[in-house]
Amino acid sequence: MRKLRKALFIDRDGVIVREMQVDSYEKIHFIPHVIEALREIRRRTDYEFVMVSNQDGVGTPSFPLDDFLPVHEKIMEVLDGEDVVFDDVNIDYSLPEDGCPGRKPGTAMLQSYLDGDYDLKASFMIGDRATDMELARRLGCRGIWLHDGTECGAGIALETSSWLEIARFLTGSDRPLEHRTATVERRTGETDISLKLDLDGGGHGCVVTGIGFFDHMLDQIVRHGRIGLEARLSGDLQVDEHHSVEDFALALGRAFALALGDKKGINRYGFDFLCMDEVNCRCAVDFSGRPCFTSGGRITRDYVGSFPTELVPHFFKSFCDEARCTLHISVSRGNAHHQVEAMFKAFARALRMAVKRDPSSNEIPSTKGVLE
Ligand SMILES: [Mg+2]
Repeated sequence: MRKLRKALFIDRDGVIVREMQVDSYEKIHFIPHVIEALREIRRRTDYEFVMVSNQDGVGTPSFPLDDFLPVHEKIMEVLDGEDVVFDDVNIDYSLPEDGCPGRKPGTAMLQSYLDGDYDLKASFMIGDRATDMELARRLGCRGIWLHDGTECGAGIALETSSWLEIARFLTGSDRPLEHRTATVERRTGETDISLKLDLDGGGHGCVVTGIGFFDHMLDQIVRHGRIGLEARLSGDLQVDEHHSVEDFALALGRAFALALGDKKGINRYGFDFLCMDEVNCRCAVDFSGRPCFTSGGRITRDYVGSFPTELVPHFFKSFCDEARCTLHISVSRGNAHHQVEAMFKAFARALRMAVKRDPSSNEIPSTKGVLE
């Protein structure tokens, strides 16, 4: 039996780039997360990408073709360079009063998709206007309406303001976007560390450092930070735990910095306030690009088991040095085991919030434009 093809019909203005007459390079503003979402959909599904756009009055004095074409080609070039390849592009240049049958929601430009080769019930039209949803209806496919309002249209498969949600919907995955990962190998005369970090790893991993209590704390970071972490450390424990804890923190901080890259589209700030029995702990983190660590509260014993508690603040400071983040953490008095564990848990949850991708932005979260 012949396999039918599936298409994603995708509007351009208001969906891929911001809605306006895009007639100069300065007016190209991509919608937050559109590129990574489309790349992921392209990679994980077999939809063909079909652009369908009305460009009112291109070729008239108010919108000359020479103003439209180079800018449109630049948009397509950027998408292509990011592995977002369109199989077909359909642009109607008419004005509403022309009554052109190719103008959305007319289907004249899309007749080849109606000839039986496509499974239109399994296809979607992604648009930001009611006319896009009407086109979906006329094509016999379902609509995905990208807009900020609260309108609810009949027969629409998804209404959302977020490309991340569209990617989740179309790929059927809770973690649809490319994972942010880093690998760090760090060898000195004192320690040998191999570490693989996945910021989107979902709280799974295996960490072996040879220090039981430290492994237990690192597991807190994995579980409560919802990261993936595979790590092995071989250290000079015959000396003491200092080199191992410090170097592991440096390697982990380095991995965070690498995995975050330019920090585009992340929350940047994270915080948590949690309790563990009689202890409470506050933690705030900022991936500012500026290493800074402060701590408040005194851990009530010098050791938890055989683990020296003076290494707890040293771990956090070393992490900050390589992750280039600011970290404030303070803990109340109480059982020393509870104190340390609460600190690692609060740290993990603050990290989780800070590195999470903000669905409303794909910009570097700084007025300076850089976080280095
Ligand atoms: Mg539009």
